[in-house]
Amino acid sequence: MREPVDAFIALGANLGDPVQALTHAMAMVGGLPHTHITRHSSFYRSAPVEATGPDYVNAVIAVSTCLCAPDMLEQLQKIEQSAGRERSTRNAPRTLDLDVLLFGSARIDSPALTVPHPRMTQRAFVLYPLAEIAPEWTEMAHSLGMAAQRIERIEPP
Ligand code: ADP
Ligand code: MG
Repeated sequence: MREPVDAFIALGANLGDPVQALTHAMAMVGGLPHTHITRHSSFYRSAPVEATGPDYVNAVIAVSTCLCAPDMLEQLQKIEQSAGRERSTRNAPRTLDLDVLLFGSARIDSPALTVPHPRMTQRAFVLYPLAEIAPEWTEMAHSLGMAAQRIERIEPP
């Protein structure tokens, strides 16, 4: 068995019932083999980036996992599919998007998987929820500013 690794996963959705989709997806990720959730951010509402369509709901979770990164990606894609994800055009609206942001200290550059996620440092909808559970990202999040990319924390009900 591999040693557990701390990984960060971004969740997003802007079709159907995004809050329900993210809540369900978190439970599914937490239920993967040899994986448990160690921290989760609040939910955030954000404007689509480089796309039109409804606002997104976003969150980030930290997991401790003994899966390897390609197996984690495969499992995440199965969860996306079970949520009815269809892959059409780039940045098209989606019922569920699960991205691997960080996987321990791994640097991966394969056709199917790039880690750290190449666009994470440009995206307020990733950095704000990430900074909530990994404060070392706070300065980077604030340097983007909430004004440039509209994002707001959704108050818990
Ligand atoms: P995006 O999340 O960039 O909007 P998709 O969710 O449609 O786009 O993913 C497109 C492809 O990106 C996936 O098939 C996957 O193989 C690849 N990919 C590369 N790096 C990652 C990563 N770190 N996390 C998730 N998918 C990734
Ligand atoms: Mg994705």
